[in-house]
Amino acid sequence: MAIYRGKYILEGLGTITPQMEHNLDIAYEICMSYKDKFPCEMCGRCCHPTNINIRPDEINRVARAAGIPIFNFMTEYVAQTGDGRFMLKKTNPCAFLGPDNRCTIWKDRPQICDDFPYAVSMFMSRVYLALTNPDADIDDLITYMDDEWPCSRIIKESVKERIEERRKDVVPL
Ligand code: SF4
Ligand code: SF4
Repeated sequence: MAIYRGKYILEGLGTITPQMEHNLDIAYEICMSYKDKFPCEMCGRCCHPTNINIRPDEINRVARAAGIPIFNFMTEYVAQTGDGRFMLKKTNPCAFLGPDNRCTIWKDRPQICDDFPYAVSMFMSRVYLALTNPDADIDDLITYMDDEWPCSRIIKESVKERIEERRKDVVPL
């Protein structure tokens, strides 16, 4: 498992060589091209996961936005995993999803919610794989994405083309 730029956890990668880093940067640029151009439509469909990561430095902000005293927030809403990370407990649907399917703490939601689905490890690692392996089909790699979601539809319609466009920039490993 390798950490790319302190944020993307890329399973199956050991050490990141300079060549890999160059190619990871291209994958990152492809992911970010979506995040910048196609903002989340706030449909609420993805707010039903079993796990939602929350960073330690986000806990106070989210608890305050939710109007929950920090002690109650930590005991009722947050769980710590074996490897020391924190997760929101009340999910599927998330405790902060409103009846209108809108996030009630939108401005202060965890970073993972802001990054999803364009700038998260799962998508980033698949773009990287397709970019560096001409035999890998990105359509097969992202079958986990739900076609009902507006963001997934945008990705599925155009990611292949974006990867093809950048293949010329990839360096051999
Ligand atoms: S499914 Fe996509 S568009 Fe809908 S809220 Fe989630 S990230 Fe936004
Ligand atoms: S915090 Fe908001 S955006 Fe994140 S999962 Fe919950 S309702 Fe959705």
